[in-house]
Amino acid sequence: MEYRKIGNTGMSASVIGLGTEHLDGKPYNVVEETIQAALEQEINMIDLFMPGEEVRRNIGKALGDRRKDVIIQGHIGSVDLNEKYDMSRDLDVCKRYFEGLMENLGTDYIDVGMLFFMDSDEAFEQIRDNGIIDYALDLKEKGVIRAIGTSSHNPRVARRVLETGVVDLMMFSINPAFDMTPPEKDVLDTFEELEKQEYISIDPVRNALYQYCEQQHIAITVMKTFGGGRLLSAEHSPFKKAMTPAQCIHYALTRPGVVSTMIGCQSAAQVKEAVAYLQTTAEARDYMDILRGYQGELTGSCVYCNHCQPCPVDIDIALVNKYLDIARLDTEKIPPSIKQHYRALTSNGADCIACGSCEEKCPFTVPVIRNMERAVELLG
Ligand code: SF4
Ligand code: SF4
Repeated sequence: MEYRKIGNTGMSASVIGLGTEHLDGKPYNVVEETIQAALEQEINMIDLFMPGEEVRRNIGKALGDRRKDVIIQGHIGSVDLNEKYDMSRDLDVCKRYFEGLMENLGTDYIDVGMLFFMDSDEAFEQIRDNGIIDYALDLKEKGVIRAIGTSSHNPRVARRVLETGVVDLMMFSINPAFDMTPPEKDVLDTFEELEKQEYISIDPVRNALYQYCEQQHIAITVMKTFGGGRLLSAEHSPFKKAMTPAQCIHYALTRPGVVSTMIGCQSAAQVKEAVAYLQTTAEARDYMDILRGYQGELTGSCVYCNHCQPCPVDIDIALVNKYLDIARLDTEKIPPSIKQHYRALTSNGADCIACGSCEEKCPFTVPVIRNMERAVELLG
């Protein structure tokens, strides 16, 4: 397993995480098999948003004394008052369900307390004005949660929540189709209509959100990695080609700020399939054929696909471009950690021999040689 740091929290996330939604309503033996397989594969990230007591108890029981080995994303505001998956912005209700989550799991802490489903301005204003952000801060102060997270499908609202400065981690819906959806559209509304959507280019607002996370040390965990399975089907994909799970996972893991993809599983076999990504070759992960033709206004911008490899002097071109993009957000205040990461690379911009082979291969016409020079200027 590979792990990535969750910002400044001191925790590290497995790049493959476990989404548990499909375990809801399943018998205990299915829950146990899936959780045990995840633990055996050294997965340590688990998202648990479901409000139902039975599935929470089953997951807690299956974790047993391995609870301390996992990082649980638990959601504040996920309830089942009126329907199975409901939400509340009432402080007392939120408290009752969050305390119930710990009781059901048999634990006295939740690693990441998630401000649930921040998809509208109204939702954000309610959690701010009803004391729910203060509740999360109080939980963190008391050590009941180790970090504050949020979940969202809307880049503009997510950005508002992040700009409060309290969030350590954001769970966000990321895949190539959603990333080409304009921010004013609800990806869950259009989720059933992926084929009708007009796909032009990766949306700059979403791109800027991910870069902001990397700059601010806010870790991103990913949901909807496969677009509800549609991206895996040539018939249902808007790109008219099936992506492989490895391509989808790699796309998500190469966005700035991303630390883990939460893959929904309901069997040991599915857990193994998800983790199989780690054994795939660079060619098998390459998603550039899917994005080719959708450059739009991002022409000249790196999408971090690594299609330009190999580099004769072993520069990780996508990674250098990623650090450079973060540095360019504010050249007066480049985060020291970005400079440290850049300087820790075995080869960096200073090693570029300007051979040009990357520029010939890049479908986004990224001026790589110029970027390498700029990286030297800005990052050392
Ligand atoms: S320079 Fe081009 S090919 Fe290389 S990672 Fe960036 S977008 Fe992909
Ligand atoms: S131009 Fe520089 S970065 Fe690109 S392949 Fe050649 S040496 Fe590597």
